[in-house]
Amino acid sequence: DQDVAEYRKSLAIRVSGFDVPKPVKAFEDCGFSTTLMSAISKQSYERPTSIQCQALPIVLSGRDIIGIAKTGSGKTAAFVLPMIVHIMDQPELGKGEGPIGVICAPTRELAHQIFLEAKKFAKPHGIRVSAVYGGMSKLDQFKELKAGCEIVVATPGRLIDMLKMKALSMYRTTYLVLDEADRMFDLGFEPQIRSIVGQIRPDRQTLLFSATMPFKVERLARESLSDPIRVTVGEVG
Ligand code: ADP
Ligand code: MG
Repeated sequence: DQDVAEYRKSLAIRVSGFDVPKPVKAFEDCGFSTTLMSAISKQSYERPTSIQCQALPIVLSGRDIIGIAKTGSGKTAAFVLPMIVHIMDQPELGKGEGPIGVICAPTRELAHQIFLEAKKFAKPHGIRVSAVYGGMSKLDQFKELKAGCEIVVATPGRLIDMLKMKALSMYRTTYLVLDEADRMFDLGFEPQIRSIVGQIRPDRQTLLFSATMPFKVERLARESLSDPIRVTVGEVG
């Protein structure tokens, strides 16, 4: 409708896809639990950023998303907050093992930042987050994963190592995030990403974020996402 169209324009947002949910203007519009709302307040996040306004209702509705936005636009919370909701919604949360949410990021530093952000929202819910990237002893990482977790934040190479060591199983993974997909491809991780995607059940929800959409990333999105909604923020993509 007119109101929504004007709002999107003011945020320099372009959205394409079928049956796009209306953007939210406030975190209060997201239907979050009081636990999650208070964790958001603790971060002093007063209102959602542009990408969050558009992405939160899309991801909360269970749809796949391609998010194209430059660094600093608040993409992490756009995929972490709905991931907490997704995990808390699992009827078998206390049973089974292995991560429900898997996040892949290109570098150790980025994975670590996401790990810290995810922990802030996960911890108040009793959700465990494990970081899986180089620089840590493989044995320690193996032991941590064996102890169990609901979220894994990983670089593709180390996640493949851990899967080969059978440190974790992704049989109950239903929420996959590929963050900074263009950088993961630049770093040569395409085979690892394809292997990881291929090991996760096809009825998962898949989120792909990227600053740019080169052909190879576009092709991966076409092959790995179902009926995605594409959200582009600002003069990128
Ligand atoms: P991106 O992944 O798009 O580069 P980040 O998720 O790293 O962006 O967020 C950039 C910064 O903005 C971080 O310091 C984060 O804590 C902050 N931030 C995210 N969402 C909000 C919000 N709604 N209000 C205020 N600050 C936010
Ligand atoms: Mg980011």
